[in-house]
Amino acid sequence: MSVSRRRVGIMGGTFDPVHIGHLILGESARVQFSLEKVLFMPSGNPPHKKNRDGATNEERVEMVRLAISSNPHFELSLEEMHEEGYVYTKETLKRLRQRHPDTDYYFIMGADSVLTFDSWMGPQEICDQCILAAAVRDSLDVEQLDQAIGHLKEKYHADIRKLESPNLDISSHGIRSWVSEGRSIRYYVPDPVMNYILDKGIYGKL
Ligand code: ATP
Ligand code: MG
Repeated sequence: MSVSRRRVGIMGGTFDPVHIGHLILGESARVQFSLEKVLFMPSGNPPHKKNRDGATNEERVEMVRLAISSNPHFELSLEEMHEEGYVYTKETLKRLRQRHPDTDYYFIMGADSVLTFDSWMGPQEICDQCILAAAVRDSLDVEQLDQAIGHLKEKYHADIRKLESPNLDISSHGIRSWVSEGRSIRYYVPDPVMNYILDKGIYGKL
């Protein structure tokens, strides 16, 4: 008898700050793959962004909390929020799967992450432990994404699915620089996140 398994999405990122691109990506994945919830998992010490200026860990977590609070299917996860030591997706997945053996995890990523996936720590172990949900992203066209998906399928036998999400030209980097230039970020981030950034003067001086 087949037992139905739970489906949970993981939306990992630096979220410096979280923006509507992340939220729409998470929501698109939830709907397309019938996920019971999506874990928003800010990365504490991302290996590829070692010397970052920007918001503190606490501020990034708070911004995610504010951004997702109105969506009952989104949940903040502090699984990767360590002060010390780098965090690696393969270890995170291992811990989650040990704790929840009844769950299939859908790891959500934008096209830029799909393209650099080969250089992540333990790509094979990641592919063995989750379903990858890959979405288009601004500078990358669909053919490039399809090619990258084909490559990961062949090389790692990855279960990688195309995530149908609108192509939004928006990045945290862009938002940080707009704030530092005094430009408006309204509607690019939820209002409570915008107010938090402006009240605390985050990204004020880059
Ligand atoms: P930064 O500009 O600082 O790199 P970012 O906007 O790329 O920030 P991250 O926290 O690095 O945001 O991204 C987390 C995940 O969300 C990645 O998988 C990334 O590909 C994806 N992502 C972020 N913005 C978008 C977007 N506009 N469209 C599709 N995917 C996105
Ligand atoms: Mg990025």
